[in-house]
Formats: sequence, structure tokens, C-alpha cells
Amino acid sequence: MIDNNFAASKTKYMLVVKFGGTSVGKPERMKKIAELVLGMPGQKIVVLSALSGTTNALVRIGDALLANNHPAAEDEIVALEKHYQNFIQELFESPSYQAIGQEIVSRYFSLFRLLAAGKFDDRGYRELLAQGELISTELFYHHCQERKINARLLPALHFMSIDENHEPELEKIAERLKPILETMTGASMLVTQGYICRNNKNEIDNLKRGGSDYTASLIGAAVRAEEIQIWTDIDGMHNNDPRIVKKTLPIAELTFDEASELAYFGAKILHPSTIVPAQKYNVPVRLKNTMDEKAAGTLISERGSRGQFKAIAAKDGITAVKIKSSRMLLAYGFLRQVFGVFEKYKTPIDMISTSEVAVSVTIDDSKYLAEIVKELNTFGVIDVDKDQTIICIVGNMLAEKEGVLKEVFQALASVPIRMVSYGGSTNNISLLVETSQKEKALNLLNEGLFGL
Ligand code: ADP
Ligand code: ASP
Ligand code: MG
Repeated sequence: MIDNNFAASKTKYMLVVKFGGTSVGKPERMKKIAELVLGMPGQKIVVLSALSGTTNALVRIGDALLANNHPAAEDEIVALEKHYQNFIQELFESPSYQAIGQEIVSRYFSLFRLLAAGKFDDRGYRELLAQGELISTELFYHHCQERKINARLLPALHFMSIDENHEPELEKIAERLKPILETMTGASMLVTQGYICRNNKNEIDNLKRGGSDYTASLIGAAVRAEEIQIWTDIDGMHNNDPRIVKKTLPIAELTFDEASELAYFGAKILHPSTIVPAQKYNVPVRLKNTMDEKAAGTLISERGSRGQFKAIAAKDGITAVKIKSSRMLLAYGFLRQVFGVFEKYKTPIDMISTSEVAVSVTIDDSKYLAEIVKELNTFGVIDVDKDQTIICIVGNMLAEKEGVLKEVFQALASVPIRMVSYGGSTNNISLLVETSQKEKALNLLNEGLFGL
């Protein structure tokens, strides 16, 4: 199911395999993934996250530096350095590789202290955040060297880029990757950094938190890989959020559309945009568990089963904006004007619900909320509700199955629902509830729709 034109010119079987923070977070896990990747067919592009906890630590260091709290930043740097010292001691075996590990750690921590000593701004912050993936890939690469594994480093900052709207430039990424990969055809593993990229000013930037999944999908699409594999600490996409609901089950297969909705609406296992590039070039995405390689995981592709509830996800931090205006009655062009305000402030709308005299929309980016409300005030009375959560119920052909809404509303009989969106696509029902109701709603839906 690969793009035929590309498949015809393709000489190599290529897999893109991404390992998240917990999969590389301990020396023995890093050793295990080298083993795992070695056992896979063809050439592998291995996308690594930072070791678990590192990006959070870098965020804390960056925040402390922005707040001019240098002692707090130094404390964090010292603690992180200790962590890496212990890590390399277990990762490398021979004295010569111990020395290489030592050199790597000293080099990165000198850089952290250099960044901390100078004028620290947003640009320095983003450079700091990028170091987690740079250090993890360098350590992994040298581990492969020590084991005489035929691996090469593939520097993400040489090809991964975003435009002025922070959107990845897939075509340019593919163009830049092609000649680089041609120089590396003999290697069985190409090790690259997830998450990091360059922006339109050529500065170091990133694909937002959890962005290594997105990197894997962008590379998989760019090289038209056979498959993109996301290896993490759970056996695939579950039917509900396992952090909130006790009994959840992995889903064997999802369509691109279903997985995309779940990722966008809060299933943390995937960065919200992960599925987009893979779907564009029809590259299947497989979710696998590093802690249990034999578990089937989840296959995300074009095909999928129909007529059933598949999974539920929830996205917090939502703001609902209601515009009430008698000018809306029998008028045309009103909604265009309203949407124009959100467009002006580059603020995407997730849910919409309309009546004759009012329209409610939800946004998750409230950076320009004050400006938006000020402009909307000219249309009518505006109500703003913060701390809302979108609950997204996904399944195939939900809109064509009988009694779907009845089942959902029956399950949620005791939960106040602020908005409902249904019928916009055939695979999704979205509900807006107060965030304080989320846990209850997810558990009730788990019982009502899945009998769990
Ligand atoms: P990684 O570091 O490998 O990227 P993440 O922590 O980003 O891992 O994602 C995996 C986690 O996502 C799981 O441990 C789980 O707690 C969480 N998660 C949230 N919703 C789901 C879901 N629907 N299915 C599976 N995992 C989910
Ligand atoms: N290290 C980055 C983060 O923690 C990217 C990722 O893990 O996907 O957000
Ligand atoms: Mg993640």
C-alpha cells in the first residue's frame, strides 16, 4: 500500500522506528533496543527521544534561567549531571568507551553552564531543550559503536524544518534527506533525534512536547517507509485513558482517521499531529511496547473494522466562547464574520454548535482570548467558560449506527454536558464537559460503551 511511483524507484526496505523516553531511560533499556532494532529487517531509521525526565528537567532549568534564578538552575544541572554520570557508567563496558561517555557528558554539561552564564532568552531556551535528544542519540550511537553495530548518526538539524507558522516542511525535509541517505546506504541503523528541528530563521526549535512521534511520522512519510513503528511503555492505543480509567484494553486496529482524532483529542501515546504525514503517503503506523515486544500492539492504517465504538480520549485546557446575537437570526454572512476573528488571531476552533441566535465554539489556544473577545463584543453578548474538557468518542461509521447517541447519553446521564458535536464526520462524537467532570465521564463511558 505504498505510493507506487516511489515504491518502483525504491531500492531498500526501510522502517522508521521511534523509541520514547522510557524506552531509552535506563542503560539496560538502551542496550535492549539496540538488540531489538538489530533483529528487524532492512535499513532502520531509529528516532530517539531524550531519556525520560530529561526534557522536563531542561524545562525547569530554562524556566529558572528565564526567571533569573541561577542557583535553582545550577541545582537542577548538578542533579541531571549526576544522572548522566551514572547512566554512562552502566551503558559502556570498556575503559575507552567509558572515556568517550565521559567526554560526551562533560561537553553537554559545559554547554548547559555556558547557556546559563550568558543572556538567556527564548532562543537559548529552545537550544537548551534540544540537548536532551542530542545527548541520547550520541550515547546510543556510541553504544552501537562499542558493540560493532553498523550504525550512523543522522543529524535531525540537517534536514528537519518548520516554516513561519511552525508547520513542518515535509517536501523540503524529503529533498534534504535524499542525498544524506544516499551516503549512508551501507549502514543498518541510522540514528536520529526526535522532536528537534530548525525554524524559518534557521534557529534551533522543536515540534512541541511529545514531538518525537511526529518526527518519526515525518521521516516515514518523507522516505515512504514500509512502516513507522512507535515503541513506548504500553501495548498500543487503549480504548480509554489508562492514566484515568482503571480497566482499559489495547485496540488491535485503527484507521488513520480514528487514530488522528484520538491523538488530536488527547491520547498522549501519540503527539497530536503524528498521523497526518503518515496518512498523506499511506504509510502504516504500528504502536508497540518496548517492555513487552511480543504484545501485538496497534496497527494504524487505511483499513479498519466498522460500526463500533473504538476508543475515548480527552483534551483539557479548553475554553468555550458563546456569541449570542439577534443579528444571527435569518442572517447570512454572520458566521463568516465570527470565524474571521478567530482566523485573524490564528486560533483554531475545535468544536462548534449553533442555534438560531447563538453560536458556541471551543479553542485550546487562549493566547489571544482577550483580543478575540474584544472584537466579538461588536457582534453581541459574549460568554466565556474556561477549564473545559473535550471528550472525544471515536469509532467507525458511528453516524450510521442506530442508537449511538442514546448509548452515550445514557452512560452520561449524571454528567452535565455543555456542548455536543455529532455528524461532522462519521467516526467521532465530541462532548464538552467541565474539567472537574472528566474523570467521572471517562469512567462512566468505559462502563456504558465498553462494559469495562
Ligand atoms: P513516550 O515517552 O514513549 O513517548 P508517552 O508517555 O508520551 O510515551 O506515551 C505513552 C503513555 O500515554 C502511556 O504510558 C499512557 O499512560 C498514555 N496514554 C494516554 N492515553 C492513552 C491511550 N488511549 N492508550 C495508550 N496510552 C495512553
Ligand atoms: N523529549 C521530548 C518531550 O519530552 C519529545 C518526546 O519525548 O517526544 O516532550
Ligand atoms: Mg510521547
